[in-house]
Amino acid sequence: MEEMLKTERLHLLEQICDLAPSNGAKSRVAMIFKYRLRQRRDEMMAFYANLKLDDGEYEESEEQGDGYNSDVFGSCEELINWVQKLAYSIGVVVIKRRSNKRSCGFMYRVVLQCDRGGEYKVKDSSKVTGTKKTNCPFELEGTYSDDYDCWTLKVTCDQHNHQPVLFMEGHPYAKRLSEDEFNLVAELTRMNVAPRDILAILKERNLSNVSTLRTIYNACNKIRMVDQVGKSPMQVLLSLLHSNGYVYEITSTGLNELENLFFIHLTSFDIWRAIPHVLIIDVTYKTNHYNMPFLEVVGVTSTSKTFSIAFAFMHNEKTVNYTWVLNCLKLTLN
Ligand SMILES: [Zn+2]
Repeated sequence: MEEMLKTERLHLLEQICDLAPSNGAKSRVAMIFKYRLRQRRDEMMAFYANLKLDDGEYEESEEQGDGYNSDVFGSCEELINWVQKLAYSIGVVVIKRRSNKRSCGFMYRVVLQCDRGGEYKVKDSSKVTGTKKTNCPFELEGTYSDDYDCWTLKVTCDQHNHQPVLFMEGHPYAKRLSEDEFNLVAELTRMNVAPRDILAILKERNLSNVSTLRTIYNACNKIRMVDQVGKSPMQVLLSLLHSNGYVYEITSTGLNELENLFFIHLTSFDIWRAIPHVLIIDVTYKTNHYNMPFLEVVGVTSTSKTFSIAFAFMHNEKTVNYTWVLNCLKLTLN
């Protein structure tokens, strides 16, 4: 595999280097492009030189002692990490295809494939999307050995039917967060740090991080899903209102569906009590996912600044709904 990719990829780089405009000419971008390609080629040359050394003699090398010269692994994770790291460095992303477990749940076999392997499953939608799947046959198999209590790796097929990726920075694999980074995102999210600030912190800590804002949003969604597991959306909403210091009131239908929701924050309430002279009440429409009219009550300070007092989602715009909201507002005063 390495041999093939090595020649193929170096050849490709050579070609592109030749195509890029020469020093005296054209755009700055083209020059940077050319420079980066050269740099990469040199890095790769050095990498393969090391690899060759290890292939020849199976002796311990201090720099690359962690697996380059051994095909036996202590655990399945170690095996997958090693394969992914090596593949990544030569422009291929390897993913888990399937695994086999014993009845006790112990995994004893894992099949790995190129991320271009398999075929794109056409879904029942009108959207036409591109696919990176090329049905690549590349496949590896890791097996657990009971006798030696270790994992071994076997190459089932070493052929790729596509070119290696030249710039891995744009690949989703490169953007994913490490376990430490994910934990940091979880911690910062719980402290209400904005996603763009979280991204800035990650990039400051790890200069080679190529994650995007989308990566952070996805991670936040995942964290939220874990936090909300086993709860209905209504339970989540009410527990959030409760934990964030809101006082709320709801009405529901006979079928136990939410009709109206009124909520007010204690701090807003205190400000309102201090400056009670002006109240502005307005309703906005179609501003939310549920298409419910959203009523907002704001007050005005003596310096003509507005501040939020209370909010309400209403089932519809009938007198009875407005009366209910105003009654709730009145009740908070008592
Ligand atoms: Zn492939």
